[in-house]
Amino acid sequence: MFHHVKELQFNARVSQPDPRFASLLLEQFGGANGELAAAMQYFLQSFGVRQSHPEKYDMLMDIANEEMSHLEIVGATITMLLEGVNAELQEAADKTGWMSMVNSKGDKEEMFQQAMTNPQFLPITGGGPAFTSSQGVPWSASYIHANGDLTVDLRSNIAAESRAKIVYERLLQFTDDPYVRESLVFLMTREIAHYKMFESALESIEHNFPPGVRQGDPHFTHEYYNLSNGASARGPWNEGSGTWNEGEWSYVEDPVKHVIETQGNISDHPIEGTSKTMEEVERMNAELGKKRKEKIKAAVGTGENQWSSYPQKEVASPKKVQKSQAGKSD
Ligand code: MN
Ligand code: MN
Repeated sequence: MFHHVKELQFNARVSQPDPRFASLLLEQFGGANGELAAAMQYFLQSFGVRQSHPEKYDMLMDIANEEMSHLEIVGATITMLLEGVNAELQEAADKTGWMSMVNSKGDKEEMFQQAMTNPQFLPITGGGPAFTSSQGVPWSASYIHANGDLTVDLRSNIAAESRAKIVYERLLQFTDDPYVRESLVFLMTREIAHYKMFESALESIEHNFPPGVRQGDPHFTHEYYNLSNGASARGPWNEGSGTWNEGEWSYVEDPVKHVIETQGNISDHPIEGTSKTMEEVERMNAELGKKRKEKIKAAVGTGENQWSSYPQKEVASPKKVQKSQAGKSD
């Protein structure tokens, strides 16, 4: 269950209203890389690992909740930046606190102009945040990546944190407000921390590459195709061992010739760059598949099932239905 704590995770403050920046900041509220997307992504991913990887469930839920806390900070900041651009404004613009800051008719028009940078703030939200991007594009569940394989999901999360971090970094270029900057630096820094959490969690998984169970066909795993003419760049992505634990890149200088000679990669294609054989791959597929099956079977029961204990004193789900000790039920 969720329990709301009224104190924000970070003490969000603004020096003065700034509708123009509020509009940009909306990107982190309802945009593709924003806090709602992050919170929903980790929340959604957590269900699948509750019973099979309870320690990762704990982490995903903690981070999902932190993202909700960030969403709250961003929403609070946007609202404060829009002070004056609220429902009152439409009825009695001159009476608002915001309007008293405006000295001349020109200033007033300038403020309206800023608010109109994102017209939805005026007639639609009445001066609050909305689940849209800074361009007014409605938030979409298509921003969410949850593939049900923990190594895939953790890599998606590392990518999501990278994007969130860089958006905050860019937003910092558009405000001089020291209070707002303080909040943005906090939010940006937490995304860096989350990146490391997901990376460390990924590293804690044995056989985390390639994702899933099946190994790649060794005929093709280590091949780099030079698919452009002219000068070619060489580096760890196509020469040496790269980040392979075993073997090294095999550079196909002339892929057209290579494809014709191998009849479309099906005949007389040597295994290059790796000492893995097809037999070894088949053996690993079978072994990893069996291991995975046993692990899931041990972790997830069948029939009666229970998600949590009361109180939940262990990380693991109880799985087995706990009959009431007090004799209240049945
Ligand atoms: Mn966040
Ligand atoms: Mn994050």
